[in-house]
Amino acid sequence: MVDQVLLERFGYSEFRVGQRETIESLLSGHHTLAMLPTGTGKSLCYQLPAYLLSGSVLIISPLLSLMQDQVEQLKMRGEKSVVALNSFLAFPEKQRALRHLGSYRFIFLSPEMLLSEPVLQSLQRISIALFVVDEAHCISQWGHDFRPDYGMLGDVRERLGNPLTLALTATATREVRADILRYLQLEEADEWVFSVDRPNIAMAVEVVPFRQDKQERLLRLVKQLEKPGIVYFSSKRGAEEGADWLKRQGISKAAFYHGGMEHEDRILIQQQFLRDELDVICATSAFGMGVNKENIRFVIHYQLPSQLESYLQEIGRAGRDGKKALATLLYTPGDEELHSLIAEGEFPSDHQIIGYFSDEWSLSQTERAAALQLTDVQDRFLRHYAEQAARRREGTPAEYVRTKREERLRQKHKKLLYMLNWLQSNECRRQGVLAYFGEEPNRAVADCCDRCGLDLQKYEKQCSKERSEPLNWEEMLSSLLRVEKV
Ligand code: ADP
Repeated sequence: MVDQVLLERFGYSEFRVGQRETIESLLSGHHTLAMLPTGTGKSLCYQLPAYLLSGSVLIISPLLSLMQDQVEQLKMRGEKSVVALNSFLAFPEKQRALRHLGSYRFIFLSPEMLLSEPVLQSLQRISIALFVVDEAHCISQWGHDFRPDYGMLGDVRERLGNPLTLALTATATREVRADILRYLQLEEADEWVFSVDRPNIAMAVEVVPFRQDKQERLLRLVKQLEKPGIVYFSSKRGAEEGADWLKRQGISKAAFYHGGMEHEDRILIQQQFLRDELDVICATSAFGMGVNKENIRFVIHYQLPSQLESYLQEIGRAGRDGKKALATLLYTPGDEELHSLIAEGEFPSDHQIIGYFSDEWSLSQTERAAALQLTDVQDRFLRHYAEQAARRREGTPAEYVRTKREERLRQKHKKLLYMLNWLQSNECRRQGVLAYFGEEPNRAVADCCDRCGLDLQKYEKQCSKERSEPLNWEEMLSSLLRVEKV
């Protein structure tokens, strides 16, 4: 039965790792937590059952762009019965959607939207076949993408009459998985945990002792490696400068992407990349979720990610076609300092916390956030813990929020330290990542990592495809004179 739907609806002849197990467990009525490796096709785990269960499938998704991508994907498959309730939807459209909610097969929702009372009440009136929490690691404060509003999902589930639930993630440690089940109040659930390993992605770390040499190293890699590829930067400015530099050096099909760009520009770049009109994207971590490009041949980290979860998510965008791909991390001692700064800035400062709880305001939440120049993340953090603080008797709210901030900073620091230890260890990179996720050591993988003697030449583009970019003069001369530039 499921095989037939797989073929007829989706045009696939086989399930990928974990899909069958997850789907069958749902179809036999069990709440399910599924951890499937990045890029293997988690969406199918709720899309397929939607055609076999009666009622609507609700999907809670943390990122607007991810949600839009999934909606587009379904529509391209000819599915019309799909709606996304998020801040992009204009008021009249939203009202119309709410009136006809029960007629949709797929309802995508941001957590904020789900917590709004009119939306919840409309949902209570319809029959829910499946309640899906996508990127479920966001629920746990130990997860790398903690979203406080995800913490309310357990209560929401209860108000919706405990519908059959699926929690999906690609990167959750044992601790995070336990949190997911607890927060969602899933006492009995099937857990399908598959290895996070992607054996076709080779891992390498290169230490570049001096920061000024990094751009040159990046350029050489980008020139030599088979494309397309992604270069991840820790900051928006870094991504812009990286793309500019590459373009000036003759990599004409390079562009940057980050969360500070206009929505239309982001979509444009993403589409150009999908259509192979771009070879290299210099991006922040905002790029990638929901980008289904099968043939990405390399992911370079220009700076080190702040934790192994993010590293794994980001390198997981390569090699989705199952062919060889390379993940290279360029590390310059001191790169980690940037993360301490970023982490500090992510949470509200003492001054903002005190300001937030001051009685002198006669402003709305939004005006207050603007006056204190709070970022979205700081605002969410303050609102969430202010609510918790209000339910407590001891201490002032400001003290409580400050303690929570310190806890989160300590936790971030711990993860960064793990990342650094992994970087400096002499052990196999892959086994280090697996150990972090509580997995047993894996069988030996061919072309594993730099610690296992990886040969980078295998990832260089074929000579016949060489030189798709025009040579610049400097290069032409040095190649004529056979002089190495670096
Ligand atoms: P992720 O696990 O990262 O959420 P997606 O659900 O977006 O991944 O799917 C990644 C890609 O894999 C999509 O293009 C999807 O159509 C494809 N895919 C999913 N399941 C299968 C399958 N059984 N056979 C072939 N391709 C599949």
